[in-house]
Amino acid sequence: MSLPITYYNDPVLRKKGKPVESFDSGLTELFEAMVATMHEADGIGLAAQQVGKALRFCVVDLRESPSEFQYVLDGRDNVPTDLFMPLALANPEITYLPGEPIVFEEGCLSFPDIRGDVERPSRIRARYQDLKGNPHTLECDGILARCILHEVDHLNGVLFIDRMEKKTVKLLEKKLKILKRRTRDALKTH
Ligand SMILES: [Zn+2]
Repeated sequence: MSLPITYYNDPVLRKKGKPVESFDSGLTELFEAMVATMHEADGIGLAAQQVGKALRFCVVDLRESPSEFQYVLDGRDNVPTDLFMPLALANPEITYLPGEPIVFEEGCLSFPDIRGDVERPSRIRARYQDLKGNPHTLECDGILARCILHEVDHLNGVLFIDRMEKKTVKLLEKKLKILKRRTRDALKTH
């Protein structure tokens, strides 16, 4: 079952997530619903804030673009993506690894039809817990690193427009204004 996606200007998108403390069937249900929502919307990542929950939890699925990143999961570089994706990241903590930052165009399911260049570190280490609370370490680059950084920003109430250069945001100004108003009106009527 998929969930309604929250859009830009919904206050929940600016809330910092609370740590995940219960690794129970409720978390698995949330995971499954978030994955269904992400797939239905053709997304590659989704944060709890985007389904209305201020929680340190997000999902990522890049099985369709395996050539666009490299990774080492728990010290192993040969774990097939099918074994750990869709990926559930509870309480993720990010460390940047050495490497030149990369500028790349991003989209976000909370900003329909809005895309813009964002500079991000190229390589990261993510420590997180899975649905059972087991800790993992994932070192990665490419689209996987970018996607995790984008989602973890959501968990801190940070949006991709905050990371864009001013001139990029300026170009999107009109679209952002329309979306802002549309979200405000929709929240009023519900
Ligand atoms: Zn997003």
